[in-house]
Amino acid sequence: MTPIITLDLDGVLMQNPFGSYVIPTVLKHLEGSAKLTHLTREEAHKALRQAVTQEWQARMDRRDFVAAYHWDDIYQTVGRHYDIHDMPDVTALVNEGVAAGHVHALPGAHEALHLLRDAGFRTVALTNGYRKYQWPVLEGIGLAPLLDGLESPEAHGYAKPQPELFHAVGDVTAHFGDTLEHDILGANLAGVKAVWIVPALPDEQACVSGEELNSPAFQPFFDEMQRKSIYLKHHPEATQQLLTPWVAVRNVLDGARAIASRLT
Ligand SMILES: [Mg+2]
Repeated sequence: MTPIITLDLDGVLMQNPFGSYVIPTVLKHLEGSAKLTHLTREEAHKALRQAVTQEWQARMDRRDFVAAYHWDDIYQTVGRHYDIHDMPDVTALVNEGVAAGHVHALPGAHEALHLLRDAGFRTVALTNGYRKYQWPVLEGIGLAPLLDGLESPEAHGYAKPQPELFHAVGDVTAHFGDTLEHDILGANLAGVKAVWIVPALPDEQACVSGEELNSPAFQPFFDEMQRKSIYLKHHPEATQQLLTPWVAVRNVLDGARAIASRLT
């Protein structure tokens, strides 16, 4: 059986169109609500962003990690609160954002996938973003042909860091991801080597081991990154050991090089 490398998408292989296109378009659609006419446009957008965050937060709080990534449902729920019932289809907005250039591949993404495949691995995207929002981006930036598949929460009923999502993929050798409490915690819970993509890694070296991250030289940095981890409070199971990756690298290409040199 061909071994598999799974890769997170946002922050590892690609920039999605939500921040610069999908969310602004949704807010523009909602700002006409009669419930917001007493506010300036800026205040209305702030209130709407808070409403979206609250809805997402409520889903995270009840540990419904699959529903927390169902953006059509989240925006429709917020829309109903503001008496707006004709919300735009998020997949259509993603496609518009892709066509308008609101997406790009992150540096080294194409080279990394080629390198992993040449080293004998299957490459599978493992993302908490639903397939209908993610695959069109991969097609738009030319990464889809370099991936053997995409696995996501709505297909399996689990989301990272739940190990069941990793187990659903098959014989995974290593997982690449940028979010400690989704990617690294999830990979460790699933018994998969975790490659942490962290552009802020304060070192010239291309690759830092988990042991080094917990040494005096890197401990302050590692602690600071954990403090900045906004989802961590939803995962009380996360111990220091479960948040420690196999290796930390600055970008996906350095991660692919670490895999090729150490595991093949
Ligand atoms: Mg990510």
